[in-house]
Amino acid sequence: MYRSPATLTEKGVSGTLAVRYHQPMPHDWSKADIHIHTTASDGLANVQDVLDWVAERTDLAVIAITDHNTVEAAHEAARLAKDYPFEVIIGQEVDTSEGHVIGLWTPRLVPPGMSAHETVEAIHEQGGLAIVAHPFAPRWWAKHGLCRGDRRTYDTVDFDGFEVSNATPLLLHANLRARMYMTRHRHRFAITGGSDAHILPAIGASMTLFQGSTVEDLRRAIETRTTRVRSPAFWLTRNARYARHLPSIIERERAAEEDLRRARAASASTCESTHPQ
Ligand SMILES: [Zn+2]
Ligand SMILES: [Zn+2]
Repeated sequence: MYRSPATLTEKGVSGTLAVRYHQPMPHDWSKADIHIHTTASDGLANVQDVLDWVAERTDLAVIAITDHNTVEAAHEAARLAKDYPFEVIIGQEVDTSEGHVIGLWTPRLVPPGMSAHETVEAIHEQGGLAIVAHPFAPRWWAKHGLCRGDRRTYDTVDFDGFEVSNATPLLLHANLRARMYMTRHRHRFAITGGSDAHILPAIGASMTLFQGSTVEDLRRAIETRTTRVRSPAFWLTRNARYARHLPSIIERERAAEEDLRRARAASASTCESTHPQ
């Protein structure tokens, strides 16, 4: 059953970097997981199962559904959310030419394939906020769809948030680099944590903490750069589960990429025939 965030007790974690990122959560703060996938892209659980899992197995006050290049499931989740004890943000994870960017509060699809700057502008135009997804992810992860950006992009584009805690297994070093980067850029971006869950048990493995309990409170916290994050503890069974499901996640990701490629080719040929040179 859903438990009120206010009734939870929190455990601090020692360590130098941990001081900033793992302070105990004050009683009037709540937890959000703002990076979750469903079967609308390469996730393995459908919207209904995700919502049931969040209600029964987590204490999240807010979630965002952020499928790759689609807002279909996010809209469905937002419609169903009235029956659940948490709130849902309509989001998406956009493939840009410079890595993945999460658009929160984005009811309209942002076309994939644009530059990071253009993508952030498109997200802002519809009133959304833009978060850098899994910055500094190792290059070999790119083969599995975890496309990263690079420092020049982070230095120059006006993102709103920087995902310093992504719960995908083996991103420990990338998360650390992201935190190091943020020590010099904390005035520019809010720090965020997201599970990047593709399977139910991963939901909530990484979280964004914020003062208050509603989506408006979370938005205010991102805008005022006052968020904190909660990182995943090392969890052997979750990592083993993830490894077991990775082939089907990759297969779904490849199928989605192929669909995207075909759609682009079709729209290019339509443009050519509609707008002859
Ligand atoms: Zn991604
Ligand atoms: Zn993702």
